Amino acid sequence: MKAEFRAPTSKDRKPLIELLPLKTPLTMYIDPSSICNFACKFCFQANKKIKRQMQLQLMTMDIFNMIVEQLGDFEDSIKMVHLHGFGEPLLNKNFYKMVKILRDSKLVDRIATTTNVSLLTKENTHKIIESGLNQVHFSIYGLSDDNYLTFSGKKTSFKHILDNIKYFYANKKNCHIHIKINGDYYSNADKERFLDIFGDYCDSIFIDGVANIWPLMDVAETLSINLSKEQKETTKLQHQYKHIKPQKDNLCPNIFYQLMIHSNGDISPCCADYLGKIKLGNIKTHNLKNIWGGGNRVWS
Ligand code: SF4
Repeated sequence: MKAEFRAPTSKDRKPLIELLPLKTPLTMYIDPSSICNFACKFCFQANKKIKRQMQLQLMTMDIFNMIVEQLGDFEDSIKMVHLHGFGEPLLNKNFYKMVKILRDSKLVDRIATTTNVSLLTKENTHKIIESGLNQVHFSIYGLSDDNYLTFSGKKTSFKHILDNIKYFYANKKNCHIHIKINGDYYSNADKERFLDIFGDYCDSIFIDGVANIWPLMDVAETLSINLSKEQKETTKLQHQYKHIKPQKDNLCPNIFYQLMIHSNGDISPCCADYLGKIKLGNIKTHNLKNIWGGGNRVWS
């Protein structure tokens, strides 16, 4: 296997305590699409009741351009913009334009996205690479057509997924490719098979786990294996990257270094706030830098 087995976080990370307080967020999530074409078992996109509470839409270029304009107010560049949030980013036909505008703005050091690969083609592979994306995370939801149907709720050709990843890898230039699968739903033999199949077509690869970060949902309930009560508790508390051990009373570090901008322009402190309940403002009416410095808070 050519790829390095590791989580996708930067190797150059400094301890947050040495950097605080930050005049500029290190990370920003900008969601091009809160709509998804999949309905994965562990995801809120599969829960019809919860989905009715979400703002499902594609981000307009007007909203996106307002965000970029306001990024220029910060003193430093943003270390990483994740151009994805709560849906499938490639559903937004302006995705490539958005990457290029961010790249040309020189206000951002690195741009990344996460996709379920279903909409990846040879044609848009070149558009993505030429736009200047630095890092792409390919999420794998099965190792066969049947797996995909069961897990993502969508008829998908596994051959399409694999062929397009191979094509992307062959043409990737400087774009770092990370591939991951949700290991909690697969046997050890399947995990080995996943590494064998994809390990030569990416720069880093990882076997993730479910993490109970979505309010109103218990992802442990969607696991196909029978968990004991104790195992369910462990699942509730575990982090997606299992070497990180969250404790019940620990303070979440995310709010000290990241902001989330929803597809409708709402601003949240956290990439888990998929319902936009912790609304700090909206890009049309509020200023990002003011919000980061302690601006208005609107509880909804
Ligand atoms: S592809 Fe991602 S956003 Fe879409 S349903 Fe699956 S986990 Fe959720």
